[in-house]
Amino acid sequence: MNLIEVSGLKKGFSGQDVLTDVSFTVKRGDVIAVIGPSGAGKSTMLRCLIDLEKVDGGSIVVEGEPFVTDGVYPPAAKVRAITAKMGMVFQSFNLFPHLSVRKNLTMPLVKTQGVAREEADARAMSILGKVGLQDKVDAMPSTLSGGQKQRVAIARALMLNPDIMLFDEPTSALDPQLTAEVLGVMRKLAEEGMTMVVVTHEMSFARDVANKILFMCDGEIVESGPPEEVFGNPKDRRMAEFFGNVS
Ligand code: ADP
Ligand code: MG
Repeated sequence: MNLIEVSGLKKGFSGQDVLTDVSFTVKRGDVIAVIGPSGAGKSTMLRCLIDLEKVDGGSIVVEGEPFVTDGVYPPAAKVRAITAKMGMVFQSFNLFPHLSVRKNLTMPLVKTQGVAREEADARAMSILGKVGLQDKVDAMPSTLSGGQKQRVAIARALMLNPDIMLFDEPTSALDPQLTAEVLGVMRKLAEEGMTMVVVTHEMSFARDVANKILFMCDGEIVESGPPEEVFGNPKDRRMAEFFGNVS
C-alpha cells in the first residue's frame, strides 16, 4: 500500500522555483533516503509533506486521503488530521528548553489530545526505553548531549504514534560518535518496520538501511532506485559529481 503519493509537486519562494516537479511514492515499511547537494530542495520537500510549507502546485495523498490536490488544500482541520499521521525530526532538535524530557514528550499528548497524564507518562517511559534514555526522564534538555537531545526529539515524535517518520538531516549537527548513537536508534526503528523518509548525508546509512534512494538536485528527483543500483551505477552526471564530493 502506498502511504504517501506525491505527484508534480511545485514550490517557489518569491518567484524562484525551488521544487520544479517532484513525484515519488512511499510504501508501507519503506525506508527512503533522500540525498543531494545543499540547496536541492530536500528540506522544502519534507516541509511540504508535513504542511510546514504550502505547495504552489501538484498533489499529495497520504494513506489514501488527498491532502493537496493540484495545489488546492482541503479545510485546515482535514489537513491537520492527515499530517498527524507523520512525525518529523529536525537537524536542530527543537526541544522545548524550559521543559523536562518527560514534559517535552507528554505535553503534546496531554494538551492537544486530552490523553490522561498517567497514560502519557507511561507511554513516555516506554518510548524513552526504545531510544535508551529512560534514566533521563527528569533531565532538562540543556544537560543532554546533542545525541541525547536528538534521541529525545525522536521519542517525542514517536509519542504521537505516527505511521510515517520524516527526518531532516538528523545527525548533521552531531560529531561522529553522537551521530552513531542516533543512527543506531533510526536503524532499530527501521528494523521494527517504521516507514521513514530520511534526508541525510550519511551515505553508509543510506546504503545499508534504506531500501530506496531519491537523489534530488535543482528542485527535482533526478535519480531514484534501490541503493545498489543508484550507488553502483549512477546515471546522472550530477549524481556522479555529488558522490565524487561526499565519498
Ligand atoms: P536543501 O534542504 O536541499 O539544502 P532547501 O529546501 O533548504 O534545500 O532549499 C532549497 C532552496 O530554497 C534554497 O535556494 C533556499 O535558499 C530556498 N529556500 C528554502 N526555504 C526558503 C524560504 N523560507 N524562503 C526563501 N527561500 C527559501
Ligand atoms: Mg536541508
